[in-house]
Amino acid sequence: MDTASTGAYDGVRTAPRALATEAVHAGRDDLARQGLHAPPIDLSTTYPSYDSRAEAARIDAFATDGAGLAGPPVYARLGNPTVARFETALARLEGTESAVAFASGMAALSAVLLALPTPGSARAGQGPRHVVAVRPLYGCSDHLLTAGLLGTEVTWADPDGIADALRPDTGLVMVESPANPTLAEVDLRAVADACGPVPLLADNTFATPVLQRPAGQGARLVLHSATKYLGGHGDVLAGVVACDEEFAGRLRRIRFATGGVLHPLAGYLLLRGLSTLPVRVRAASANAAELARRLAADPRVARVRYPRLGGAMVAFEVHDDPHEVISRVRLVTPAVSLGSVDTLIQHPASLSHRIVDADDRRGAGVTDRLLRLSVGLEDVDDLWADLDRALGAPRERQGAEALRETVR
Ligand code: PLP
Repeated sequence: MDTASTGAYDGVRTAPRALATEAVHAGRDDLARQGLHAPPIDLSTTYPSYDSRAEAARIDAFATDGAGLAGPPVYARLGNPTVARFETALARLEGTESAVAFASGMAALSAVLLALPTPGSARAGQGPRHVVAVRPLYGCSDHLLTAGLLGTEVTWADPDGIADALRPDTGLVMVESPANPTLAEVDLRAVADACGPVPLLADNTFATPVLQRPAGQGARLVLHSATKYLGGHGDVLAGVVACDEEFAGRLRRIRFATGGVLHPLAGYLLLRGLSTLPVRVRAASANAAELARRLAADPRVARVRYPRLGGAMVAFEVHDDPHEVISRVRLVTPAVSLGSVDTLIQHPASLSHRIVDADDRRGAGVTDRLLRLSVGLEDVDDLWADLDRALGAPRERQGAEALRETVR
């Protein structure tokens, strides 16, 4: 039986531990005392209680500040013990007080936008909310902001122009670094300084806490599409926001009211995924760095982007038709998404960023010849053999030119 409480898993507080140790122990510290090794999966949607007065008091407390419910769980939309374990673990890895999990990365971003308080108003959810954001963002994040689907208004800015773009009613600044799909990086510390009191949300999906911990650089909110590296096996759709407890309370109340909860099975798979996250990210990054090097030296490749930070994503532009490259891969899977144990390739202008206006997309560096590679754990020579064939007939040697254009 899992005795962890719903809103916040109340495991043993331990001394600071290295990331690799947190990855396999955080969110599980109480298990041995319960005589368990693997975390239990609690699939209950509701929980018995013979004390309605006590339940009323707990729900009142939750409605006030969204604090994790102390004591036994009440109802699955309020919180789930298995999901709470994943939240605890992710917060430990990102170095934040709390984390709040959602049904997808987009549900997590939606909750953040809905939770923004309008300056001057006491409550979240009132009046217009202005967001300053840096392109490129993942295509659907761009779309959510551009279309104003949740009542927000966006100003797109360069990282250097953020301070000038802020308005008295700005509730959020949003960046991705490295960004999807160009792998452009921003100096998170400099951006956080430019934000002043306005919360900075850093989408850390591509870097993961293994390579970068944005909260330590001044980001108040750290977003993940947990669908990607955190899950790591292409079989979980999930999102999570790591943040301070005050903002987490707002997010829990939004989650309770709008219902975008993470399923407990997904919470279990994510917790399991976290335990191998450091090993997976480092091994895939080594493969990616080598593929970036080989692509940069290849005359069929016009330009390669690989982050200064490292990581397992590579973006490159080909001289010939990128659709042909996609059609010729055999070992690599031609599919949108990223962060799985196997290697995926996709054409952002056709898939992940199709929903962004073509001019805006190109203006953000997402050219029509750009391909995005999510490098997995296969043998690097096997991956290269597949890419080499997919790139097509050899061209005149222009490798030196490609190498010069390698970014970062
Ligand atoms: N953020 C980034 C950087 C992404 O790549 C994605 C999805 O590709 C999302 C957010 C949205 O996540 P999800 O697909 O889990 O809703």
